[in-house]
Amino acid sequence: MANLSSGEELIFRVAIPVPVYRIFDYLPPDNAGLESPKPGVRLEVPFGSGKKIAFLLEIVQRSEVDTGKLKRVARILDNKPLLSAKDLRLLLWAGNYYHHPLGEVISFAFPAALRQGKPVAVQTEKRYALTDLGKSTLGEQLQRTPRQKSVFEKFHVSQASLSEAELSAWDGNWRPAVKQLIARQLLRIDLSDTRVNRPEALVRNNALQCNPQQQSAIGAVCSGLGRFGVFLLEGVTGSGKTEVYLQIIRSVLERGQQVLVLVPEITLTPQLEGRFRQRFAVSIALSHSKLTDKQRQAAWLQMQQGECSIMLGTRSALFTPLKNPGLIILDEEHDSSFKQQDGFRFSARDIAVVRGKLLHIPVLLGSATPSLESLHNADKQRYRLLHLPDRAGNATEPVLQLMDIRNKRMQEGLSESLVEEIRLTLAKNEQVLLFLNRRGFAPTLICHGCGWVARCQRCDANLVIHFDEERLRCHHCGKEQRLINQCPACKAGELTPLGLGTERVEKVLAELFAGNVSVRLDRDSTQRKGSLESYLQQINQGEVDIILGTQMLAKGHHFPNVTLVAILDVDSGLFSIDFRAAEKLAQMIVQVSGRAGRAEKPGKVIMQTRQPEHPLLTTLIRQGYRSFAKSALAERKEALLPPFSYQALLRVQSADADAPEHFFQAVSALVQKFNTGQNQVMGPVSAPMARRAGLYRYQLLFQNTRRQELHVLLDSLIPEIAKLKQAKNVRWSLDVDPVDLY
Ligand code: ADP
Ligand code: ZN
Ligand code: ZN
Repeated sequence: MANLSSGEELIFRVAIPVPVYRIFDYLPPDNAGLESPKPGVRLEVPFGSGKKIAFLLEIVQRSEVDTGKLKRVARILDNKPLLSAKDLRLLLWAGNYYHHPLGEVISFAFPAALRQGKPVAVQTEKRYALTDLGKSTLGEQLQRTPRQKSVFEKFHVSQASLSEAELSAWDGNWRPAVKQLIARQLLRIDLSDTRVNRPEALVRNNALQCNPQQQSAIGAVCSGLGRFGVFLLEGVTGSGKTEVYLQIIRSVLERGQQVLVLVPEITLTPQLEGRFRQRFAVSIALSHSKLTDKQRQAAWLQMQQGECSIMLGTRSALFTPLKNPGLIILDEEHDSSFKQQDGFRFSARDIAVVRGKLLHIPVLLGSATPSLESLHNADKQRYRLLHLPDRAGNATEPVLQLMDIRNKRMQEGLSESLVEEIRLTLAKNEQVLLFLNRRGFAPTLICHGCGWVARCQRCDANLVIHFDEERLRCHHCGKEQRLINQCPACKAGELTPLGLGTERVEKVLAELFAGNVSVRLDRDSTQRKGSLESYLQQINQGEVDIILGTQMLAKGHHFPNVTLVAILDVDSGLFSIDFRAAEKLAQMIVQVSGRAGRAEKPGKVIMQTRQPEHPLLTTLIRQGYRSFAKSALAERKEALLPPFSYQALLRVQSADADAPEHFFQAVSALVQKFNTGQNQVMGPVSAPMARRAGLYRYQLLFQNTRRQELHVLLDSLIPEIAKLKQAKNVRWSLDVDPVDLY
């Protein structure tokens, strides 16, 4: 090991979170100890006119820079690194692969406070539990204090002590009620440390009896524990994938190891967290964007120090350090929210696989509608496919059917036959779910007199009508204005809403089904914290007859009493120019359909269409997702599109219409210089939405059937682009393996 006190000064090579493609050399701090710090420790370094938090990469004998010009590290912040050597390697790999500045990548792995250089303070959180009196008291007895009743029932449901973070994640305003319940001697502060994992107390004994397919999936993964392997669990909706995860996790916990479970959006599926808490007696760390920085840091440190065994989180939780890693699970692996779309544009699914390999642990990807990439990897034997072909328990799969609405009378998007189907379902006291992937009242406001259309001044887009709030809103830049009632162009014509959004359907439902209760679930109606939970609760308690909503409904919800699902406008998904549109549409249809017939009652799925012969729809209905995927993969292969080729997209935005052109001229000279392989370069072209939030947008696409060659080009190209003077006048970014070309 290098010795800092020997005569020759050593050089600290560090990564600093700034948008530049290089690492920096510093001299050791003045008061350096005898032992050299390990790679990964945080340092404070002078940078420009200020200071920055940096990360030590290595200590070397000499610098390529004249040491007289080097500054000294101001302070070493950690006596040992918070990231393991393997996790540091993972981040180095990710920085390289995604061509993102290394300091920013490493910094991304840390919670905000640690990123800013705060010391590591593990605060043990207070936990609360029911007293003996509390255990024998029923929630009904608290009828007159509803806040206390709801908190009290939360403790009964979770059957365990709850921490401050867990309570805050559930309801921001729990403190007064807990205080009152303690005063009434129904709750107590819990001093026993449940975070210590006592094997006999890991699991509550409420596992389900698994069917043979579930058992064989569990067996396959469990016999692969302790070494690297990727499993793709393809199980139809309701086939019991979650049960499979829970039983595998149990085995991992019994080995004294930790599990990282990544899901698309936890806040959309509070039921999942509940199932984990009901199954495991150990404490469960959460990590998602709705938590405070403090809560996220506490969760991160608990995993890092091995005090907590399970983390349930969204994509950025992928980098959470694990003291005893055992397994990584990615549920709904096809979901595009696993791809970060700005800043450090990484795929949590792809990095999870690399991380599993580095840590020698298995990675389990699960979905009812696996991505074509993953199915291709399974075809190539890189992933092992596990299949759950049937629904668990007594539930049967719903029947999908197309409803031809050509020339049919429609009322705000509902055909007469669909209205009839809804009536029949409601008459049986069963629930109906209507899916429309467009929020607001209508996507366009047009003048019946002169044809004027309400446009966003900053984007190439129409303003969406939000009738309830009397606003016109741009869904791309967020700009909004009052809803007008006079045409600004001709001052005379009648302003007419064109097209269909959830708000508009909600209004017609209220007329057609006046005696029934409908709820609308979309981003607008669930803004308030806790409102989604309360809607879900109403639905599951049978207080709701019709559920209307956007893609929010497609995500893993369990609505046992829904027997009719209708997709109101399936055609709008059929004509996109994105080559992934068909895949996304098929996944969406199957996922939404999966909400029907989840219990004993059989379910039915109706899709209203003017394209009843469309091959995508007919294949999906007659032969299922797997056949659709097979033919979609064959088309991709024919066209040499991913996963049969690899792409990287250079995006450029600028307020100045000419700057991108100068930038691309310089880029194209660099491409000619460096492009040695068979890389195809397509563009530059205007982005499909050519202007957004006042910026002009262009893009250049690189594609190659050989990944290696593509990355050789990017390796030399990207650092040079960063140095271009023409790059100063534009905002540019590189997206490796883009999932969205727009
Ligand atoms: P998925 O995650 O595949 O959609 P879930 O794990 O949510 O499926 O299971 C769907 C439903 O089936 C749940 O209500 C679950 O409790 C139930 N279930 C799962 N496995 C079994 C089983 N082996 N026997 C009976 N019911 C089961
Ligand atoms: Zn007009
Ligand atoms: Zn806009």
